[in-house]
Amino acid sequence: MKILVINSGSSSIKYQLFNMPSEEVICSGIVERIGLENPKIKYKSSKDSIEKVCRITDHKTGLEKVVKFLLDEEVGVIKSTSEIQAVGHRVVHGGSTFSKTVVIDEEVKEKIKELFSLAPLHNPANYEGIVVAEGIFPEAKQVAVFDTAYHQTMPVEAYKYAIPNKFLDEDNIRRYGFHGTSHKYVAEKAMSYLGAENSSKIVTIHLGGGCSMTAIKDGKSVDTSLGFGPVAGLIMGGRAGDIDSSIIFHLVNNLGYDLNEVNNILQKESGMVGLTDGLSDYRDIEAEAENGDEKCQLALDMAAYRIKKYLGAYMAILNGIDVIVFTAGIGENSVPMRKMVCENMDYFGIDIDVEKNAVRSKEVREIQAVNSKVKIMVIPTDEEVEIAKQSFELIN
Ligand code: ADP
Repeated sequence: MKILVINSGSSSIKYQLFNMPSEEVICSGIVERIGLENPKIKYKSSKDSIEKVCRITDHKTGLEKVVKFLLDEEVGVIKSTSEIQAVGHRVVHGGSTFSKTVVIDEEVKEKIKELFSLAPLHNPANYEGIVVAEGIFPEAKQVAVFDTAYHQTMPVEAYKYAIPNKFLDEDNIRRYGFHGTSHKYVAEKAMSYLGAENSSKIVTIHLGGGCSMTAIKDGKSVDTSLGFGPVAGLIMGGRAGDIDSSIIFHLVNNLGYDLNEVNNILQKESGMVGLTDGLSDYRDIEAEAENGDEKCQLALDMAAYRIKKYLGAYMAILNGIDVIVFTAGIGENSVPMRKMVCENMDYFGIDIDVEKNAVRSKEVREIQAVNSKVKIMVIPTDEEVEIAKQSFELIN
């Protein structure tokens, strides 16, 4: 069965076409800079790899151009759009409404719309992708996979904020958590690799542009570091992670910033960007730190320190830990970050093997020392495969 996975952002559409259940990638690509200057489409299949600048004013035109490539006589991979039996959509926010992957109907679309205010940057773009795909693939089932759904198993003490009850009861203000598709995917990989009996207590550490950690008990999320929105918890590329909310009032009341500026500071100008005076990519930050840049070294030390703090918290709530999983761009590739997080943790039975940690690979692997009580794993995440898998399971 052919399943197209779409991740529709405000100015881009990432796509991958899968053969399921084999998980074979038939083609993949991205439409970038939709509605902006110099829009570009990338398309890659076994037949060719193409990059083309063309006029793409909106998501509909973008997806139509993708379909043109899919159907193309020379580089295409399908004869008719009806070969695609399902389209799996990444939807960032499912609120408390969606705890599972669902087939999209009018009611689901209405509910996704109601959640626009919770994810104003993401849900409208995800919704747009759904509407456009419905028009182009009228025979396919449209499926929504939510970033928040995996965390709906958190107990109330983990998701409720200690603010007046009415804010949860009437306004749905609570911890939702994000990156759920990734946390679920790598946790299940760890469980099938080690056996469920050896992986009952997992902490997954997703370190990419956005960063989050999840405490997982018997395959279920019981706590996670991102909260109501995507700015809590770990230090991220441009996001501050945890800060004392009184800083916001000080910035507004005493230093003259308006709320939009504060929002911009906390979402885009903080985190590694703020600490290094402008760098967000770990490859650059690590290179500068290596060359003796003290701000870059401190930024890395602070990022690792924050992860360690959450690791301690999650070991406490899980009453111990079987496995730590590193994933996403930084988690999969940054040898120094994994080392900094795991060193000096022998009290907890965590002991990293420095040589195994330094091996570069795209494989699922263990990097703990022989006598480490806790397994330390590196597992490449694949949110697109997970969306295809969940879509396939749902409609099959
Ligand atoms: P997202 O999907 O959220 O954009 P990714 O999971 O692709 O993020 O992670 C991107 C980040 O991974 C980059 O910004 C960079 O910091 C980091 N990264 C990628 N490759 C390496 C590497 N070889 N060493 C260290 N960090 C890396």
